[in-house]
Amino acid sequence: MTIALIVHGGAGSWRPGSDSDAINGTTAAVAAGRKILETGGSALDAAIAASVMLEDNPIFNAGTGAVLNFDGFVEMDACVMLSTQSQIGAVSGLQRVKNPILVARQVMEQTDHVMLTGDGALRFARVMGHVDYDPITAERRADWQDKKAKLQVAVGANGSGAMKIRHFLKSHPEYAGGTIGAVALDANGVLCACTSTGGVTMKLVGRVGDTPLPGCGTYASKFAASSATGTGEYVIRALATRQISDNVERGMSLETSIGAVLDGLGRDYDADVGFIGIDANGNTVGAHRTPHMPHAYFTDGSEIIAKMRA
Ligand code: ASP
Repeated sequence: MTIALIVHGGAGSWRPGSDSDAINGTTAAVAAGRKILETGGSALDAAIAASVMLEDNPIFNAGTGAVLNFDGFVEMDACVMLSTQSQIGAVSGLQRVKNPILVARQVMEQTDHVMLTGDGALRFARVMGHVDYDPITAERRADWQDKKAKLQVAVGANGSGAMKIRHFLKSHPEYAGGTIGAVALDANGVLCACTSTGGVTMKLVGRVGDTPLPGCGTYASKFAASSATGTGEYVIRALATRQISDNVERGMSLETSIGAVLDGLGRDYDADVGFIGIDANGNTVGAHRTPHMPHAYFTDGSEIIAKMRA
């Protein structure tokens, strides 16, 4: 049986001069998951191990280094899904833990539920042993302060207009940070998709993106598993990762399927999005509509290949 793993570090415009950090970070995450798959471990363990490495790397917008919301604190979303029996665990609006993807896994394995949110998710995380942790880095805090000052100029002193800031953010791509995702196929033919994020920068408090929503930012079926990145509101409208799987079920190749979903998102919304995915045969695909989407992958005995763009 084929084994494979692909990870992404977020679709957007990467900071000039930081490509090697993104390449090294995604490569290290694939290496960690690969070790697990090559020694007979599960797609779940491999995708989670890769996700934890990416969450712990402060250059990515997930876990440590997650972006701040409008009020200057971090609310994180994460989801894990398995192709077997559509097992899913997710958290949304989770504050002050180090690894949201581990909490999502515990929601899947230790509760009857699919998703926990906000205070309830935090209470559950503490019961599961996740200690208080501040994921905010000095760089993200400085970005937030700078952006808040620029935004005040852009929307006026009374802040009216700050509810819709997508246009403003588009003209400040230097702040784009990347969600993380990992998709794995193990030797038993199980597919697993994980996604974890701080969401979009300067989001309104309480905003939930595509990442924790099954079939939107994260999905796994026996046909294909995928993880999305980019402005989540578009990904949600398109039920994008479910569409990717449905197309493959109808006989499309994974590459054509992801291409078709990207084309639709481009046509309908000019969306700044990207996807990684693996099908049941171990074909890996990374594709995006943004200048960059650092991603890395391997299949069976291949080298780990890492790229800033597809
Ligand atoms: N998809 C994420 C969200 O909307 C953000 C991103 O991938 O950059 O929360």
